This record gives sequence, C-alpha cells and structure tokens, in this order.
Amino acid sequence: MTGRTAFITGASRGIGQACAETLSRAGARVVLAARNLDKLEEAAGQIRAAGGEAFVQEMDLSSEESIKGAFAKAASEFGRIDILVNNAGITRDTLALRMKRADWDAVIQTNLTGTFLCIQQVLQGMMRERWGRIINISSVVAQSGNPGQANYVASKSGVIGLTKALAQEMASRNITINAIAPGFIETDMTAALSPELKVALLARIPLKRFGSAADVAGAVKFLASEEASYITGAVIDVNGGMYM
Ligand code: NAP
Repeated sequence: MTGRTAFITGASRGIGQACAETLSRAGARVVLAARNLDKLEEAAGQIRAAGGEAFVQEMDLSSEESIKGAFAKAASEFGRIDILVNNAGITRDTLALRMKRADWDAVIQTNLTGTFLCIQQVLQGMMRERWGRIINISSVVAQSGNPGQANYVASKSGVIGLTKALAQEMASRNITINAIAPGFIETDMTAALSPELKVALLARIPLKRFGSAADVAGAVKFLASEEASYITGAVIDVNGGMYM
C-alpha cells in the first residue's frame, strides 16, 4: 500500500485505531479522524513511533460542515484519498417504545448519513485516479436484528444498502466499495455491556471468543489491498461464526 493515502474515521480508539495501525504497517500514509484531538494525537504518535506516516484530523460526523472541512483540508495536504474506512459509529440503545427522536436522529446521522457524506467527499478524486477502496463498517446486527437497537440496526442495515448501491455506481471507475459486519469486538463500545449479557453472547459464538479490533483491521487491510480488486458490494462477516 506504499504511496496510498488512507482516511480512517473513528480512529481515536477501538477498531478505527487498529485499522490505522494495520494500514500504516502495510505501507499506507494514514489520516486519523474523530472528534477528540488529544486521543487522535496519542494514536497517531504510536503509529509514528513505529515508523509510520500519520496525520490527525478533527471531524464531527454529526456536522456536514465539519465533514466537508475535514476532507477539504486532507485534499489540500495529500492530494487525494485512495482508501476510505468509514468506521466511526455510535449507539444510543433503548427499546423503540422509549426511544427519543433525538436518539434515533443522532445514530442515523453519525452512522449512516455521516458515512454517505464522507464517501461523497472522496469519490471525485478516486474517479480521476480510476482507483479507490471504500470500506464501510456495518455490524452483525444489520443482518440479524437486535432488540433495543432499532436506530443502530437501521443505520447499519442502511450502510449495507448504501455499500451495494454505490458499488454498482462506481464499479466502472475501478472503485470498490465493501462492508464489514463485525460481531462482538472488545472495545469501549462493548465494555459497557453487563457480565451476564457477555456470557450469553459468548455462548452464541462458535469460535468461543470475542473478536479483537485487530481481527476487523485484518479484513479492512485485505479489502484495501490489490488482492481484493475483484471484490465489490460484498459484506464480509468478522463475527466468529456468531451469524452465518
Ligand atoms: P468505539 O470504541 O466506541 O469508537 C468509536 C469511534 O468513533 C471513536 O474513535 C470515536 O471518536 C468515533 N466517533 C464517534 N462519534 C463520532 C462523531 N460524531 N464524529 C467523528 N467520530 C466519531 O467503537 P468501536 O467498537 O471501535 O466501533 C467502531 C465501529 O465498528 C462502529 O461503527 C461500530 O458501530 C462498529 N461495530 C463495533 C462492534 C463492536 O463489537 N465493538 C460490532 C459491530 C460493529 P471520538 O469520540 O473522539 O469522536
């Protein structure tokens, strides 16, 4: 991936940070984006210490203005983005009967609309180059459903639909667009779940362990590589067999 620039959203921690580290080790220059600049600097510092080329970009996916500004700055500094990893995401879990409109809107805006807007910012550059890789992080629950997560499930199913539609729009330009559907991955997002729920979830995972951020990053690296050039519109499960 030497010579490629990868832009990773939600790279201040968890899966996004692992994606940035892995793509950097594979030779890409990486741009780490999220809201928390201190955490981004920390993550970028670790990549630089390992010999990689890492830059940070403050960006709030809930603001179209912030997204446009972030990509405009990246374009002015690096020319074009070759690899976009749409990883940032949030949950606001509760049963639908109790779900506030604001919780619905926040999750759809960040996870789905934010993903769409980020993709829009990189398409022209990729079209000019006739090369691009877009990898969207969905979730196993997009396929299985999950009570208490109507907003999150809808956003992540939307990400899969968006992936398939844009894969067809962009295939003739040699831009591949794929989704990854992680199962239970150990990060801050899942740390808040109760021990009882974790035991119940583990019982449903044939590989008998929770996933790591590195497990997801490995699939991202593959989809971003030359070797994956004939894969587009796919949804790759990284879930230990939790859902088949
Ligand atoms: P995480 O540890 O909570 O990290 C989320 C990242 O997204 C952080 O870097 C956060 O940074 C960023 N982010 C959140 N809101 C943002 C906003 N408005 N604008 C910009 N960045 C924002 O989550 P994770 O577990 O690594 O999850 C990463 C992705 O994988 C998410 O899309 C999640 O839905 C998906 N996923 C996770 C699991 C799992 O089991 N962990 C399973 C399936 C799918 P700031 O707070 O600094 O902005």
